[in-house]
Amino acid sequence: MMWHFIDVDFIDRVLIHLFYCPMPSGRTHDSITLWGLPVVTGTTWFYTGNPTVAIVVAGSYLFSGLMFGPDLDIYSHQYQRWGWFRWLWLPYRKMLRHRSVFSHGFLVGTIGRILYVAMIGGTAAGFGILGWSIASHYQGVMSWDRAAFSLITGLIAPLWKNLQTHWILWLAVWFGLETGSMSHSISDTIGSAWKRSQRKRRSNRDR
Ligand SMILES: [Zn+2]
Repeated sequence: MMWHFIDVDFIDRVLIHLFYCPMPSGRTHDSITLWGLPVVTGTTWFYTGNPTVAIVVAGSYLFSGLMFGPDLDIYSHQYQRWGWFRWLWLPYRKMLRHRSVFSHGFLVGTIGRILYVAMIGGTAAGFGILGWSIASHYQGVMSWDRAAFSLITGLIAPLWKNLQTHWILWLAVWFGLETGSMSHSISDTIGSAWKRSQRKRRSNRDR
C-alpha cells in the first residue's frame, strides 16, 4: 500500500521533533512568551499609537509569562522565579489543582492572581498600619485610631487619584498580564489536543 512507500514513522518523528509539546514544558512556555513579545508589543503599538502603553503592555506580558502565569499552581519555572518570596504562592498551589480553571481560565486566572496578591499585600499593609498606629499611640503622637485613619486615607487617596489619572496605563498592565497568561493557557490546550490526537493515531495504528 501507499503508506509502505512513505516512511510515516520518520515524518512523525520529524513532526514531533518540530512541534510536539504534549503539555509544554517550562522551557517551551518561556520561548513562546519570548517569541510572542515582539508580536504583542508591535500590535499594541500599532493599534494604540502610544509607545508608553506598548512598553507597559510588553513589561506586564513578560512578567505574566515568566512569573505571574497559570503554572503558579505547581512547582514550575514561574513559581521558582519568585526566589525567596515563592513561599507566598504555597497556599495558592495547595488550594488549586494543576490546570484548574481558577489558574488557567480566561480572565478568572489573572483576576484570581491579582486578588490573591492584593490580599497578601493588604494583610501586610494592615499589620504595618497597626504597628505604626500602636507605636505612635505609645509615643504620644496621636491616638492609635486617628493614626490608623490618617495612614489609611494617606495611602488610599493617592492610589485612587493615580488610578483615575492613569487608568489607561493600569488597563495596559491588566491587558499585558492577561495576554501573558492566555499565551500560556492556549499553548497548554493546543499541546494536549495534539497529544490526544497522537495517542489516537498510535492506537489506531497498533490495532
Ligand atoms: Zn499550564
